[in-house]
Amino acid sequence: MDCLFCKIVSGEIPSYTIYEDDIVKVFLDINPDANGHALIITKKHFLNIMDIDSETLAHINIIIKKMYNLMKEKLGAEGLTINQNNDCGQEIKHFHIHLLPRYKYDGYHSVCKREEIIPVEKTYCKFKDWKVFFYVFYMSFLHICCKTFLYLVLLKSTKRI
Ligand code: 5GP
Ligand code: ZN
Repeated sequence: MDCLFCKIVSGEIPSYTIYEDDIVKVFLDINPDANGHALIITKKHFLNIMDIDSETLAHINIIIKKMYNLMKEKLGAEGLTINQNNDCGQEIKHFHIHLLPRYKYDGYHSVCKREEIIPVEKTYCKFKDWKVFFYVFYMSFLHICCKTFLYLVLLKSTKRI
């Protein structure tokens, strides 16, 4: 099936993913209406609200609460607007929910003025856990040091240096 969001689920198309589990993926909208505008999509292809089963919808509700907490913590969101288009106004025919964080600076509007929107990659950085980033960086550095050391020991033992 030629579906953009299915391609995002499979990783064929990259996305700024902020959360995922077996059932859903949450990533930042490429053309945000608010800073932190995110989309919750199901990993399985459902067309719209009429197509999706109640169990999956119940799970999505839990994820909405989780994402709101994350947006409060990482972005300082003070409110959240939830949109979900079906058929009319639904550009991508794969079930998705829009999460639009609200802030004092935007007058608590769900759609920010264009000049208030910051680039998506900058918003994404705010979601990153820097402790994990530094841990991965440190481990990679350690790995390179060990490899270089072993290489030098090997060279010395073969009397090349
Ligand atoms: P709809 O109008 O179907 O409710 O919303 C579709 C949303 O998907 C739009 O807000 C649009 O900006 C977003 N979108 C379209 N293509 C891409 C893409 O390739 N990547 C991401 N992250 N969002 C997309
Ligand atoms: Zn799809």
